[in-house]
Amino acid sequence: MTAARSRIQPLLTEAVLAGRIRELGAQIAADYDGKDLIVVGLLNGVYPFFADLTRAMPMEMDVSFMQVASYHGGTHSTGEVKIIKDLDKAIQGKHCLVVEDIVDTGTTLHKVRNLLQDREPASLKIVTLLDKPSRRKTEVPVDYIGFTIEDKFVVGYGLDFDGKFRNLPFVGVYTP
Ligand code: 5GP
Repeated sequence: MTAARSRIQPLLTEAVLAGRIRELGAQIAADYDGKDLIVVGLLNGVYPFFADLTRAMPMEMDVSFMQVASYHGGTHSTGEVKIIKDLDKAIQGKHCLVVEDIVDTGTTLHKVRNLLQDREPASLKIVTLLDKPSRRKTEVPVDYIGFTIEDKFVVGYGLDFDGKFRNLPFVGVYTP
């Protein structure tokens, strides 16, 4: 075990994640029964959650990915999001479900939501694995939440610190 790895305190085990994701998948699939659904993943952090969630949804769907970068100040004080990678499919007229790893201040998701809403989907909902409501600065409607957590910096299961730990199979609290 590396020194950095020993600073990670497990918070959500593999089994706990898997159980909740199975529940979420079943609930979401029931809600979208018979609908033309496109599931949109926000890279990079979403990749394990996206794969597990969509496989827990027994229904037909399109999938597509998007990567954005937010500027929360500095020279870009308007808080614009820059699209690094756009969707490879149109969402107009489709039911669109955005999948996010964690909602913190809400700034990124608020911008992404507006951007996708302009493309006129039939509906637009959001699912996040983790929610830190105590940190919210911008109100954004989150329709499905895996786990609500305290204001702690977490890594693993897609979430990184300095690009590392995304491949950990569990979520843990990172203490520098
Ligand atoms: P927001 O615009 O909601 O503040 O930003 C959400 C993004 O911040 C997430 O997609 C994630 O990349 C990052 N983030 C927020 N909280 C955490 C955390 O506890 N751990 C990690 N690794 N990233 C976080």
